[in-house]
Amino acid sequence: MKRVTIKCPYCGAQAILRPASAVYGDAAKSKESHLYVCSRWPKCDAYVGAHKKDLSPMGTLANGDLRHKRILAHRTLDALWKSGLMKKWQAYVWLQAKLGLSSRQTHIAKFSELMCDQVIALCAQAMGTQRPAA
Ligand SMILES: [Zn+2]
Repeated sequence: MKRVTIKCPYCGAQAILRPASAVYGDAAKSKESHLYVCSRWPKCDAYVGAHKKDLSPMGTLANGDLRHKRILAHRTLDALWKSGLMKKWQAYVWLQAKLGLSSRQTHIAKFSELMCDQVIALCAQAMGTQRPAA
């Protein structure tokens, strides 16, 4: 397992690898899942998931607002490839090109709120969400 030190971008405290149940309680999806949680949690509400295979962080720590934005961005991107406009991998390549990022950087768990907004806007554009008025 890779030992990584990551800091909370909100308060600067160190993030600690903890079982997801420490944060989610009984709502934790899996007993094996882990999170990097700000050491000032729950005062500082920032955390990010850890990869199951090597426990490396999936992205940067996020507070409630950013977590919400990332969920929305993911959902919008999923809707884009599920609409059949492109395949899942193509959607990521497309997003990568649109945002001018490398494939390593193109993970929504690493995105800021601003970037999530961009993802949502780009996907909406691509899907042509301007529906005719009912
Ligand atoms: Zn913090």
